[in-house]
Formats: sequence, structure tokens, C-alpha cells
Amino acid sequence: MSPRWPLEWDLGLFSVVFAGGTMTTKFDPVAAMADSRHEFGEHGGVNSSIEASTTFTVMAADEMPKIFRGERGPFSMQARNATGGCYLYGRNFNPTVYTFGRMLAAMEGTQAGYATASGLGAIAAVLMQLCNAGERIVSSKTIYGGTFALLKEFFPLKSGVTTTFVDITDHAAVEAAMQQAPTKVLYIESIANPTLEVADIPALAAIAHRHGAALVVDNTFAPMLLSPVQLGADVVVHSVTKFISGASDVIAGAVCGSEAFIYSLMDLHTGALMLLGPTMDPKIAHELTLRLPHLGLRMREHSARALGFAERLAERGAKVCYPGLPSHPQHELLQSQLNEGFGCGGLLTLDMGTVARANRLMEILQNDHSFGFMAVSLGYFETLMSCSGSSTSSELTEAEQAAAGISPGLIRISIGLTGSFEQRWAQMADALSAVESGSGI
Ligand SMILES: *Cc1c(COP(=O)(O)O)cnc(C)c1O
Repeated sequence: MSPRWPLEWDLGLFSVVFAGGTMTTKFDPVAAMADSRHEFGEHGGVNSSIEASTTFTVMAADEMPKIFRGERGPFSMQARNATGGCYLYGRNFNPTVYTFGRMLAAMEGTQAGYATASGLGAIAAVLMQLCNAGERIVSSKTIYGGTFALLKEFFPLKSGVTTTFVDITDHAAVEAAMQQAPTKVLYIESIANPTLEVADIPALAAIAHRHGAALVVDNTFAPMLLSPVQLGADVVVHSVTKFISGASDVIAGAVCGSEAFIYSLMDLHTGALMLLGPTMDPKIAHELTLRLPHLGLRMREHSARALGFAERLAERGAKVCYPGLPSHPQHELLQSQLNEGFGCGGLLTLDMGTVARANRLMEILQNDHSFGFMAVSLGYFETLMSCSGSSTSSELTEAEQAAAGISPGLIRISIGLTGSFEQRWAQMADALSAVESGSGI
């Protein structure tokens, strides 16, 4: 029988922080990460060394069978009686990737974490680990297009796992969908792509747990600002490609959760990461460990600028959506869940009404003003803009897009960090005036 939550799985170390529906102590990811990178390099370097080996020796031949029996391994797995510091093969655990995983686990306040070759690799592995053929997922209908395609098209065809899509702001609808047994996972994004809908994580965790399911949260849009496991979730997944990398140069992903769950993903016989193999290269993992220490600073700046843009766009009467604006439907809800000091994130959307006007605005901003780039993705230090309906959410049909609140002229903007704020705002104001005056349409 597969495990049921929360009885048979350990929840995160800090999940007691959220007690009785009121936050007693705010989780501080900066403080939690303080010691996570304190590891000397091979020659006393202030950076840890890169373990570039794909395979690892044992000093005595009889150690090898113990590794295969799970009696020795890299984790201090009391439950499995394994001792630490013993590696086998790079697809299983690599010490450098594991160091990065530990830093991410510290950031999310979970017992363990591990990194993967892509965000979707992490999401697919987690969901396959939690759901067997014939079992069900209940998912938010407002999610990343690739995840939507995985759940709607790929899983039913290839693994017999089916998904019911719901409006997660309607808790009665979520509860009703969860009643269809056997539902194993409630899947949400902390701040959704691209509509910036905010999930009520404590309430959704309670619903999931009432039905013996795990709450899995994609926290790609809100690293540092939200810590879903502290709010009651069981597993966090990330597209590290976005804010955590911050440079639009690396595709990467991650999973954070209990030690038992992370270890299960690496099981030699039944582990989805071990057997499907979306393995992160240790050189990439090492490079990413150099970016986590300033993730908090970057998120603060992304958020401050995004809020500044959102306020000025709103003043101009533009149709702007940003969770830091009081006009956002879940503004108060987000405030109640946020960690302190990182703002409300770097993404905003601007509805230009029609695709033609949206495209015109983006062209002026990119080609006349070097304001940013017309490109998918987000979390880059430069501004990225895309028209969601015809790009990252085009996996959704027109009706599905309408239901998810994605109008055709909706531009998703990931606000960057370069240039001065006033310089960038002047460029935006100029481009908006050009579109409004109809020049060039
Ligand atoms: C980009 C993205 C993914 C997919 O991640 P990759 O790293 O591109 O595989 C998943 N979820 C969200 C919210 C994303 O933005």
C-alpha cells in the first residue's frame, strides 16, 4: 500500500510553526540558510569543491552489497539504518548536487532536498512517485502550460494517472474533487502562472490531508517570499531555471520535502529520480550554489521594482495585476502567508485588450527602448515579456484559457534588475503612450 499523509510520512521539520491556523513565528529563509553552504573546499577553499565523479569507491569490497541493500548511503537515515558519507553512482546521489539540495532544503525549511535537470523533470518524478496507475491527482486549473500538458495529456496516456482540474480559490469545489478516490495529490502553484492567483496553502493542505493526499506546491514564482512547507504543504518543487538561477543560462529543477520522501525518489528499485534519470550535472549544481546566497537580495529588488511598476501602471489606468496591489483579489491572503522582507514577487501582468496592442507594446519596449526581451521564461536579471495566451499557456485551449483567466492581450512581465527604476519607467510610459495614440498599429 502506498503511504498516506501525514501519518506515514514525516512532515517538514518546521511545519509545527503553523499551529491552529495562526502563524506564531515567521519563518526566515535567510536565517535558515545561514550555515547551509559552510563547507570547505578540498584545499581549504572558501567554496566547496566540485565532485565531478560519476562513480565512487568503497574501501572494503563488502561495503558494496550494503549500499545496494540500502544499509549504507549518503543520508543519515535512521529508519533505514544507513550511515552517512557513502556514495554509489552519480544518478543516485552526487555530493555536489546534494550540497545544493541541502541549501534548497534549508531555504524551504524541509528535512531534505535534491536538484534535477529541469523543473518539469522534478515535477514529473514527484507526481509519478506519489501516484500509481489508476490513482488520481486534483490540480489547480491555473498552472504552467508544460505541467498542464503533462497532467492532461501525457499521464493518462502513459501512466494511467488522471487529473481533475479545479478552481483552487473555490475550496468547496476542491473538497468535492478530492472525494473521488483514490486521490493521492493536490497540486498547486503558490503564485500561479500566468494569472498570479495566490493559493491559500494552509486551507488547501488541510483539505488534502483530510483526504489522505499530499499537497505538492510549485514555488517557482515565489522562492524566499513563500515557504509552502511552513504553511502546511508536504512537497515543494521548483523550476530552478527561473529566479533561483537568475541568469537565464541554466535549465534546472528541485524537490524539497521530508528525508523519507527524497530518499524514496532515489530508491534503486522504485525511485522516480533514480530510474527516470533527470540528473543534474554537479558542475551546474556547484555554479547554482554560488547564486543562492544572493537570491534573497535579488527577490527583494525584483519585488520592489514590480510593485513600483504596478502602482504607476494602475495610476495610469492600465489593467495591471500584481499581488502586491490592494486591488488583487488575494492581496490580504498573500500578506498573511508571506515571509518578511521579500515583497510580493517579480511578476506582473498587463492586459492590453488585444493581441495586436500587446505585441505592439512589447515590440516598442524591446526594439526601441531595450527595456527587456520578448521571450518566455522569468526570473532573469533582465526584463522578460511574453503574451501568455499565444506562448507559455498555448497548451490550453481557448476555452481553458478563458476559464483560467488568460485573456488574449495579457502580457506577463518578469521585471528585471538592470537600469535605474526611473529610466525603465520612462521607457514603459513612452511605449504605452505610443500604443495608446495608435501610432504604428
Ligand atoms: C518554467 C516553469 C516550469 C518548468 O520548469 P523547467 O525548468 O523549464 O523544466 C514549471 N513550473 C513553473 C511555474 C514554471 O514557470
